[in-house]
Amino acid sequence: MADPGKKNLVLDLDDTLIYTIVLNKSDHANIGKYSCYPNMLVQFDDMVCRNIVYFRPHVFEFIRKVAINHNLYVYTHGTEMYCKIIVSVLTNLMNFNPFEKMYWRVDGNVITKDLALLGLSSHNTIIIDDNHKVWSATPDNVIVIKPYQGPKRDNYTTDNELLKILTILNEIHATYLVSPDLISEIIKVKNIEYVTSNSEATKPDKTICDIEKDNKITKTEAETDDTDYWKKYDALHMFNEWYT
Ligand SMILES: [Mg+2]
Repeated sequence: MADPGKKNLVLDLDDTLIYTIVLNKSDHANIGKYSCYPNMLVQFDDMVCRNIVYFRPHVFEFIRKVAINHNLYVYTHGTEMYCKIIVSVLTNLMNFNPFEKMYWRVDGNVITKDLALLGLSSHNTIIIDDNHKVWSATPDNVIVIKPYQGPKRDNYTTDNELLKILTILNEIHATYLVSPDLISEIIKVKNIEYVTSNSEATKPDKTICDIEKDNKITKTEAETDDTDYWKKYDALHMFNEWYT
């Protein structure tokens, strides 16, 4: 049950908490080239594709800590199956499920996101999403996180944006305790500070071909708090269990 005394925190999945490479069936033979990557946590097949999912560094620490002061929600434009697999892997690995509710794509034609579909109001809700355009009805509630793109970027194993967001949420919480009516203003200011600090130029994305060539990374290079979790998971099995 959501705690009415806590703020709500809505989390996007793709490019916020995870990055997913989708391979066509014809590429399945190449899966071994990806399994050596340290934070490729789960792979699963749907009807036509193989999904290779990279979890953003510090995601477990982030979720554990933000759950203290927030009611947590997931809002993705991914499918129901995709959303449930990702969240079930995440919560099983943490042995902790803090999520009140998830909202996944119901209509592929809808490109906006709406807090009302989670039953939430903007007056006490913070949104973390790499895409602010989808939140056109509640732009002042969004902290626009730097997109996480897994092995398409150099140094993706040392990405620490979730730790930066954690600090920002702690600052918002401290201010909220004193002036709860100013939450939208506080979020807006903190978002501008964060986005400005991250505005350096980025290199072009690597292609799938580049990623496949650059397959020499070993697990020892991922020295993060969550290293033990960087392993392939039988997500489809977990997904089936989730339903029974
Ligand atoms: Mg996204």
